Amino acid sequence: MSEAALLSFYPGPSQLRPSVARHIADACASGILSRNHRSPEFVAMYARMTEVLRDRLDIPADYHILTASSATECWEILAQSFGALNTLHIANGAFGQKWADWRKAIAPNTWIHRFGPEQSLSLNDLKIYRDSELICLVQTETSNATQVKSGTLRDIRRHFPQALVAVDATSSMAGIALPWLAADLWFASVQKCFGLPAGLAVLVCSPRAAEVARRLGERRHYNSLIHLLDMSARHQTTHTPNVLGIFLLEKVMAEAESIHQVSHRLKDRCQQLIGQLERRGHQPLIANRHVRADTVLALRTTPEQLQQLKSTCAQHHILLGNGYGPWKDNTFRIANFPALSTADFERLYAVI
Ligand SMILES: *Cc1c(COP(=O)(O)O)cnc(C)c1O
Repeated sequence: MSEAALLSFYPGPSQLRPSVARHIADACASGILSRNHRSPEFVAMYARMTEVLRDRLDIPADYHILTASSATECWEILAQSFGALNTLHIANGAFGQKWADWRKAIAPNTWIHRFGPEQSLSLNDLKIYRDSELICLVQTETSNATQVKSGTLRDIRRHFPQALVAVDATSSMAGIALPWLAADLWFASVQKCFGLPAGLAVLVCSPRAAEVARRLGERRHYNSLIHLLDMSARHQTTHTPNVLGIFLLEKVMAEAESIHQVSHRLKDRCQQLIGQLERRGHQPLIANRHVRADTVLALRTTPEQLQQLKSTCAQHHILLGNGYGPWKDNTFRIANFPALSTADFERLYAVI
């Protein structure tokens, strides 16, 4: 029982939504996990999943909804399928950099624009990359808890009307409302804001990106975007997928409120959370509040305080997120994901 009672504020894999255990039992009982992924039962379930996801997340009707195994796989799918396009990666942290590095290993026509975690992304600095045909960036950089605002994404679209835009929204999709039309490719793995077990990712693709992929004609990989699009048109996948993950995704989204309500609630809660932590002497890692993420918070502390904090939390079966990379010893992170309730945060405030 004590293991089941773990309350995790880790920003991925994150606290599961409370209904997940029940849905896993239902999935087992329903027989879907033992059915072929070409069966009418699977096809109907997959179709329901995309329908409910589109509705709750307010995804445009003409955008394709695809699945993959992870956000990392989505990096690779895009690098392979759009390898021919001159590509600009914009990065201010570890995930953005890793994505750029993988792309560069596959396709050398890759440029990386770095900006500081305290900086707002400046459109002026991007002028020199006018010839970009694909622009890749991370909406919420989980490593340093910063985000690129919707207005900036729309500005990028306006300044690069000819380019495709791809956005890693792993730590924000299903948490905050995303400006879908400002980009062509959006993806997220489900162990962050979706509050599900890892092993599944959602990849959203605009009609224009689908058209470009078809024009480029890259079909050498089982997970080439063209194959994913062809299979998803029949509510199927290229390979035996994570059927349990897809089942759970449909169930938790069917229970979820509209993303606009969720988004409001999380943004409010983020402000409360910062206030509560500041009162306890923990300052946000990122001083510039205009670039701080809504869905994940990084807080400064000292190595001694951090040890103390972690052991106190551990005694109460609470897990905090470690600081990332260079900030391992003097920061911690707290997820502000939809699976966590007000009561969960009250439990945290009572302990720290
Ligand atoms: C967690 C994370 C990833 C990696 O997700 P995987 O499911 O491990 O591939 C990629 N990008 C961002 C922004 C993340 O937070």
